[in-house]
Amino acid sequence: MGVFPDGNSKSAQLFERAKRVLPGGNSRATIFHAPYPIFARFGHGCRVTDVDGVERVDFLNNYTTLIHGHAHPQISAAITEQLQMGVSFAHPTEVELKLAELLTGRAPTFEQIRFVNSGTEAVMNAIKAARAFTGRHKIAKCEGVYHGSYDYAEVSLDSSPANWGDDAPLPVAYSRGTPPGVLEDVVVIPFNQTEAAEKILKEQGSALAAVIFDLMPNRAGLIPALPEFVEMLRRFTRASGAVLIVDEVITFRLGPGGAQGKFGLEPDLTTLGKIIGGGLPVGAVAGKAEVMEVFDHSHGKAPLPHGGTFNGNPLTMAAGHAAMSLLSADALERINSLGERARSQLNEAYSVAGVPGAITGDGSLFAIHLADKKLSTYREAHKDAEEAELLKHVHHHFLREGIIISPTGLGVLSTPMTAAEIDQLSQAFLGALRSLPQKAAMPA
Ligand code: PMP
Repeated sequence: MGVFPDGNSKSAQLFERAKRVLPGGNSRATIFHAPYPIFARFGHGCRVTDVDGVERVDFLNNYTTLIHGHAHPQISAAITEQLQMGVSFAHPTEVELKLAELLTGRAPTFEQIRFVNSGTEAVMNAIKAARAFTGRHKIAKCEGVYHGSYDYAEVSLDSSPANWGDDAPLPVAYSRGTPPGVLEDVVVIPFNQTEAAEKILKEQGSALAAVIFDLMPNRAGLIPALPEFVEMLRRFTRASGAVLIVDEVITFRLGPGGAQGKFGLEPDLTTLGKIIGGGLPVGAVAGKAEVMEVFDHSHGKAPLPHGGTFNGNPLTMAAGHAAMSLLSADALERINSLGERARSQLNEAYSVAGVPGAITGDGSLFAIHLADKKLSTYREAHKDAEEAELLKHVHHHFLREGIIISPTGLGVLSTPMTAAEIDQLSQAFLGALRSLPQKAAMPA
């Protein structure tokens, strides 16, 4: 299998070249890992071949985007067909309408939808829609949960024991130079701590425009939300007149109607991204017509004027329509049961190797934890330096064994996978656990 890290590899050389013109060597912090990221050459199905010719099974799928893997023939054909007809216009196209009709058919609360080009934009526009709808400006979000890079949405994303305060989380700036006003307008609640969160929300009375949350937040440990936490958020938002936004940029893959279908949740707005664009840049805000009306410019100036040169661009719409048409209830059931197999085999590896840890996740998603601890909140899932070091070892071991996961331990399946790839994953994981460095040998 491949050698990693290898200072003489083509990837290492490209990285050196890239650092001169791109700060950090690329345009995206999440795809960097030390000592250098692996440059991709091509991908087919569930496999990616890097620039050194090493082939790996892709359990990252562009961070959960490529639910059908790479270069799926039907998605490629749809893109090619649209490519030959033009890639963007200052006109609406029927293909946008087709994807809108398909998606609004997937969940009862998706009465209407608007497309954008990333999950970040979807979240930003959902928050702005809630502000325009309520005439209020403050929002609440959960500590440690990622909703993209809109200033308001990234508050307290990486809060840690050094700055997170006691029971009531303090709003912590994520980027240096965040305007103080942003922190004043974001209320941070602890994920899955129903009573503590409700107390904080109630103190806001009817000041909040929106509460945004994720039913299984990746950065908070890929732990499913507790039903009572979800019920409390719905109850509070109804009573206070705040808009309830559920971020399904990742979790929409959990079922035909997304995670909200599984939870029986009826949010006012949903943010979507990743899988709905078939691998091309995408985001969307879907929700109740009553709230979505703020975008309606057809009667004059809309309460929330919303433009965007590439919104609903036909290339993305064609790829998204092909991908989502392929994603039948049967296809989802199959990939979810493979996910179940992956989680159970990975969990078994801990006991076989005699190493403490746990696998979280649901559907086709899993996350690796390497500490002996309870996992139900962000603070419990938070990784200390020791766990981060162990995870780095597992990540590098996987790369050498021909498996791609995220450096943070997130893994995701794609529909071209079979039990054979899951077995390869769990075998490699067992090898990684068996070769973990001993505590004394780890850097302090
Ligand atoms: N919300 C969630 C839950 C996400 O996981 C992400 C991206 N990983 C985003 C929003 C932002 O999406 P994008 O990267 O497309 O801007």
